[in-house]
Amino acid sequence: MMRLPPFQYLAPQSAKEAACLLADQGPEAIPVAGGTDLYPNMKRRLFEPKVLVGLRGIGELRELSGSSEKGVEIGGLCTLNEISENETLRAAYPSLARAAGLVSSPPLRSMGTIGGNLCIDTRCNYYNQSYQWREAIDFCMKKQGETCWVAPGSKRCWAVSSSDTAPVFIALGAEVTLVSPEGERRIPVRGLYRHDGIDFVTKRREEILTRIHLPPMDGIRGTYLKLRRRGSIDFPILGVAAAVKLTSEGSIVLARIVLTAVESAPVEATEAEEFLIGKKLSPDVIEEAARLAYRPSKPLDNTDLTHSYRKKMARIYVARALGQLAEAPGL
Ligand SMILES: Cc1cc2nc3c(=O)[nH]c(=O)nc-3n(C[C@H](O)[C@H](O)[C@H](O)COP(=O)(O)OP(=O)(O)OC[C@H]3O[C@@H](n4cnc5c(N)ncnc54)[C@H](O)[C@@H]3O)c2cc1C
Ligand code: SF4
Repeated sequence: MMRLPPFQYLAPQSAKEAACLLADQGPEAIPVAGGTDLYPNMKRRLFEPKVLVGLRGIGELRELSGSSEKGVEIGGLCTLNEISENETLRAAYPSLARAAGLVSSPPLRSMGTIGGNLCIDTRCNYYNQSYQWREAIDFCMKKQGETCWVAPGSKRCWAVSSSDTAPVFIALGAEVTLVSPEGERRIPVRGLYRHDGIDFVTKRREEILTRIHLPPMDGIRGTYLKLRRRGSIDFPILGVAAAVKLTSEGSIVLARIVLTAVESAPVEATEAEEFLIGKKLSPDVIEEAARLAYRPSKPLDNTDLTHSYRKKMARIYVARALGQLAEAPGL
């Protein structure tokens, strides 16, 4: 059985207090929300914090309010179940409710939070293993080692961004508020990530993600499709979030296509997005957009199934997602 290493648990009552504790305690301290990502990783000795700053007692992070007309604010501690079952979100932002409802399994969704989901560690077959397994092949660059076993000549880590909701928030144009001891700042969700499997978030170590801001839907339709081996539990090995806004004649005035689990950060298919502007979602247009969208996805051999299969599926999933948006005006 894998056991947690010993740690001290601090329980702040506000986001500011949590940020100050993280700043005071230094690099040995990490925030924890539901713990569904962090605790298994601690058991594998991928993280060995001396101090955990628990966020569960911070009531202000549990609020969810707003409407499709005004936009919605979601507290970072809202659970994935609360997101997937919330009536306002299901009606106005169905792609988000759907993505949250596709994460792992019901028990994990009742513990796992939306803030944690945006900050989960990147994943790799050579990394998400026990200490003994990693020691046996020699540790890799992301933890304790020097070499990347996926791309031995590479100077960077290619561990995969695996959040189901991050691509949806980017497609919907959402922003996050980050609180630090100095104050707070608000950035687009797309600005939260960078293409580096080790240093994959731009959030500073002591910053707490307090709120996610969804803009008014304003006629935007969105969807999310997830590829995984099993229908439950599994992380995405490909996810496609798409959103479009159409004129009354059906021409596209806004298009966003965001892929997850193909790189160390969510990937925006900008060429396909630009191609779609001014066009109608006809079968030919969808096919060409899918061809343009799958090109920037560069899955490597470090998650489930083969990377060539996942690359092919990126094209198929983008086409399916756009097809859904064309066929289901109510989405
Ligand atoms: C078997 C299994 C299957 C899973 N399947 C999926 C899946 O299919 N899709 C998916 O997306 N995820 C999956 N997960 C991961 C996880 O359950 C979810 O992503 C969950 O939403 C993480 O939230 P949490 O509150 O438990 O995060 P935690 O484990 O508490 O934290 C995760 C990280 O985020 C940081 N953090 C958490 N909250 C904040 C905050 N408010 N501010 C700043 N930093 C914060 C923590 O420091 C930590 O680094 C799976 C996990 C397991 C164990
Ligand atoms: S991509 Fe390379 S460095 Fe990163 S976790 Fe995998 S093996 Fe390690």
